[in-house]
Amino acid sequence: MFRALETCGKPVAVALEGLALGGGLELALACHYRVAAKSPRLQIGLPESKVGLLPGGGGTQRLPRLMGAMKALPYLLEGKSMTAEEALANGVVHEVVEPGQALDAAKAWIRTKGDAVAPWDRKDFKIPGGGPYTPGGAQVFIMGNAMLRKQSYGNYPAQKHIMSCVYEGLQVPIDAGLRIESRYFVKTLQQPQARAMIRSLFLSMQELSKGAARPKDVPPYDVKKAAVIGAGMMGAGIAYVQAMAGIETVLIDVTVEAAEKGKSHAQGLLEKQVKRGKLDRAKADAVLGLIHATADYAAVKGCDLVVEAVFENREIKAEVTRKAEAELAQTAVFGSNTSTLPITGLAEVSARPANFIGIHFFSPVDNMGLVEIIMGRQTSQETLAKSIDYVLKIKKTPIVVNDSRGFYTSRCFGTFVQEGLEMLAEGVAPAIIDNVGRMTGMPRGPLEMNDDVALDLSYKIGEQTKKDLGDAYVAPKFQPLLEKMVVQLGRYGRKNGKGFYDYPADGGPKRLWPGLLELVTPTMTEAPPAFVQELKTRLLYRQAVEAARCFEERVVTDPRDGDVGAILGWGFAPWTGGPFSLIDSVGVAAFVAECDRLAQAYGPRFAPPQLLRDMAAQGEGFYGKDKARAA
Ligand code: NAD
Repeated sequence: MFRALETCGKPVAVALEGLALGGGLELALACHYRVAAKSPRLQIGLPESKVGLLPGGGGTQRLPRLMGAMKALPYLLEGKSMTAEEALANGVVHEVVEPGQALDAAKAWIRTKGDAVAPWDRKDFKIPGGGPYTPGGAQVFIMGNAMLRKQSYGNYPAQKHIMSCVYEGLQVPIDAGLRIESRYFVKTLQQPQARAMIRSLFLSMQELSKGAARPKDVPPYDVKKAAVIGAGMMGAGIAYVQAMAGIETVLIDVTVEAAEKGKSHAQGLLEKQVKRGKLDRAKADAVLGLIHATADYAAVKGCDLVVEAVFENREIKAEVTRKAEAELAQTAVFGSNTSTLPITGLAEVSARPANFIGIHFFSPVDNMGLVEIIMGRQTSQETLAKSIDYVLKIKKTPIVVNDSRGFYTSRCFGTFVQEGLEMLAEGVAPAIIDNVGRMTGMPRGPLEMNDDVALDLSYKIGEQTKKDLGDAYVAPKFQPLLEKMVVQLGRYGRKNGKGFYDYPADGGPKRLWPGLLELVTPTMTEAPPAFVQELKTRLLYRQAVEAARCFEERVVTDPRDGDVGAILGWGFAPWTGGPFSLIDSVGVAAFVAECDRLAQAYGPRFAPPQLLRDMAAQGEGFYGKDKARAA
């Protein structure tokens, strides 16, 4: 249809005032003239690859014919969008006008110049930068393939197919190029990665971002004023996102100076936005003006919601709860941003445990899209609905989980790091562990990630778990190594520049700490493919089996929460669509069989929960009938 429009013999102009993403842009690219308004609402791009697809309406053919392959490929492969000005500079639009004037400008072109032939339909057409058969053009694909491989480790069929579409399509006339694109489009659509990514990263994410888990019978709750108690790293970030959403924010710490320090963090973030041209000065000042830094709890009066983000200490949190509740209205919500302390326990000091809930943010707050909402035993449905309304207002995606040690995200993420440490203790060379970690599609390897969250924290969590579980505690093989690193050697991770890696003070690249090889003696220093595959399976399945346990224990009750939470919360390999989608893609029965084998080989941490055995027996998957099994 787009090609028919493009070759219909009449000039067609398009006026872009808002979103021109995906199919919208592909339609625009099939028009002969494109006018874009300089509006902040305008976005021009082909985001298909972000959900495991490729632009199948001519995008992979027309964009590189307009911009050249080198410039177009990043937009196709990463799915990022352009502003009106960028689109003009890239030759993607012909004219940029003030908002509201695009239609007039488009009509004016038709009346005065109207030309009904697309550039690639002219005899003298040349691809900007040269086609793949020219020396310059060939370079793009030699380098491009290597870079793509480095970034994706071959986990994303869509990206590979986009490369092929552009490489093959630019060597033939546009009609043949469009046919090549269609074939790769269908091929991509048939991959399990596409199905899983569309479900989690597009459908589920949209549903959760519209409050899918919100109890329907509670009227909407508009948080106009909210307090953040504790103006440290997390509290300052939370105050910033609240103010950005127009919420009047009271930021409390033990002294006014400490509270002001938190506010200055928000100011720093705003300045950055102004410098980048993303926010104007007046708006930045207005946002900052919404944050009131104080040490006086009287300021909590009139708040619709409180987020507590003080030290991770039960007594301090209890004191803060009492002081804040003394000022709060009966209807207000009290949320704790604790990362480890069970909500039901924290709610014991509350005068109204029904209003007490976990609102768990991720660091850095301004950057991370997920908020994990944790229901305590007595938390009411009304409080849940109000908290979801709050999270949606600050433009984050909420998932809802039940109380458990580490809740959902920290608990499952922890297993990734622990499995890496197990490998280290077994004698796998550290560089292999982290490289394989990245090859699974996780953003970093387990040792690097452990450095980032802090080794002393991992050690402390281990000690606390030992205390809490008593006789039931089984010490992991790596615990002595961790103890040595933290207690004897003071290696805490990135935060003090010393962990599994050394972090040069001048900000240079990190390097594996040579002393590590004196603490562990690697016996596995080669990485043949079968060994790599085994390590990859261990790293991914260990997390997925923990997620399944969370489902069995009803910590997670909706696989959409589990999948979206995993990808947004701790970067679980996006190509899988999340741990529940991974299990479904593999097939529950096949997953159970593999876990049984891993449990035999490495220990009961891989043992599949009964729930999975039952599902396998009945041919069920987390998302309806298990297709892989049925086939
Ligand atoms: P932080 O040490 O940076 O900040 C804590 C702040 O609380 C400090 O400014 C401190 O002065 C203030 N404070 C202490 N006692 C107080 C009191 N009685 N009244 C008012 N303010 C008080 O800590 P953080 O990293 O921001 O963590 C805060 C909370 O968020 C903890 O519960 C932590 O577990 C949780 N959390 C942290 C992360 C993370 O990545 N750091 C992620 C999620 C949740």
